[in-house]
Amino acid sequence: MSADKMNNVGRPSTPNAVASNEAHPTFTGNKALQINEPLLYEVGTPEQTGVDIADPRKATSRLGDLARSEPIGLHGLSEPETMRHYVRLSQKNFAIDSGMYPLGSCTMKHNPRINEKVARLPGFADTHPLQPQHTVQGAFEVIETLADWLMKLTGTEAVAMSPKAGAHGELCGMMAIEAAHRAAGNAGKRTKVLIPESAHGTNPATAVFVGYQVQTIKTREDGTVDPQAIKEAMSDEVAAIMLTNPNTCGLFERDIMEIADIVHAGGAYFYCDGANFNAIMGRAKPGDLGVDAMHINLHKTFSTPHGGGGPGAGPVVLSKALAAFAPVPFAKRDGGNIEMVEHKEGTKSFGRMTAFHGQMGMNTRALSYILSHGQDGIRQAAEDCVLNANYIKASLKDVMSPAFEEQKEGFQRPAMHEALFHDGFLEGTGVSTLDFAKAMIDEGFHPMTMYFPLVVHGAMLIEPTESESKASLDQFIATMRDLTLSAKAGETERFLGAPFYAPMKRMDETLAARKPILKWVPAPQ
Ligand SMILES: *Cc1c(COP(=O)(O)O)cnc(C)c1O
Repeated sequence: MSADKMNNVGRPSTPNAVASNEAHPTFTGNKALQINEPLLYEVGTPEQTGVDIADPRKATSRLGDLARSEPIGLHGLSEPETMRHYVRLSQKNFAIDSGMYPLGSCTMKHNPRINEKVARLPGFADTHPLQPQHTVQGAFEVIETLADWLMKLTGTEAVAMSPKAGAHGELCGMMAIEAAHRAAGNAGKRTKVLIPESAHGTNPATAVFVGYQVQTIKTREDGTVDPQAIKEAMSDEVAAIMLTNPNTCGLFERDIMEIADIVHAGGAYFYCDGANFNAIMGRAKPGDLGVDAMHINLHKTFSTPHGGGGPGAGPVVLSKALAAFAPVPFAKRDGGNIEMVEHKEGTKSFGRMTAFHGQMGMNTRALSYILSHGQDGIRQAAEDCVLNANYIKASLKDVMSPAFEEQKEGFQRPAMHEALFHDGFLEGTGVSTLDFAKAMIDEGFHPMTMYFPLVVHGAMLIEPTESESKASLDQFIATMRDLTLSAKAGETERFLGAPFYAPMKRMDETLAARKPILKWVPAPQ
């Protein structure tokens, strides 16, 4: 690398000094090790590069009119600057590897490093989806072994391994249900899907995407679904129910088997949103509860990493009634050989969800997690995550307001993997759920899930998972108690001005979502 490439060509001499209104403004705008990082387009130039590549030999272009006539203008940096740029950006992320991340429903559990080691083995990491099948039998074996575990843990007959997220899995399961109705001659007759109002937004979105109308089922006062409500809603227009269990209020749906019977007797299928399977894995099999299709978010239950909408994996387990409609590709074992059936012709398969076989990196990680825990360890993880959630709930119930516990007979039952509170304890303090969450950021915690589920006012949904030690739970509980007492004591400034210490303050997320600015425009010179 030549010396001039190492120079900061084009770098503004004074980075944005943004800290002027703070107690101790700095010249650079940096706050000790929290370093401001401009965009690559602001800090780099097209001339800078981390590598010296000789000009290509003259060759005739075969691109014709499509050949670019001007340089592409992508900004670059030297190698050390590139390293710093991306490391600094990564340090702006909060991750489960940096602290407690009690986001309810999303299940942010520790990703064991042995998973990463296995996923990086060249035999798994460096394969190509278009390789001849006989050269990737080992990878197929991994997919098949994982598939086998998923079926055993859920008590089901088949599993589609290709869907790439929970929501994608919902789509897969609902397409299998739609295909089964079509095969039974019900095309166009069964047009409705029943969905409780506490459901995750992806459930109604999926049903509508597949072409169904959504009929909302009211949640009972205790946060669960009443079988009577399902009985009343059933008709020969209903194609399926989509029910989450444990539900998004962190409660086990006690009447799930009765609900399944009602749905089946009415000729419909039972789709279970399995995002919360981490709370019951190794203890209860959804297949035994009457479930026909359920996605498993590998990134929630089996510790594979989350990533902004991907790369996830959402395998879908299917009951005997739906097994034949599973998407291609699916594996067929012939003696010692595994064949991937790639085409739906000659099968009842509804078709294909993805270009290839799914997320191999997630399959290897999830299988590592399962094999390193074993059957008893899987069960222990579920028990520990439930214990941790109940410890939080029990330790905060005297100062915060647990949902569905309002002095009513029979409502004081343990939570599953999540502790849910409403904002009643903040009444009259001038502090909202949002303000409370922002103050948690100053204390070094990623906030819990807020304002979801919608059936709980100002909801705060806390999921510690099994990853947290008692010491870390105690620190979290002490912090939540301190914040609560502070809000009740009228120290509103601590909340309304929060976060004081985060690099970004309160952003207008609604405006950002409605009017996203997706194009970078250089600042006027
Ligand atoms: C996370 C979640 C989903 C969607 O899963 P993705 O993997 O994020 O697509 C669906 N339902 C519930 C209850 C969830 O928590």
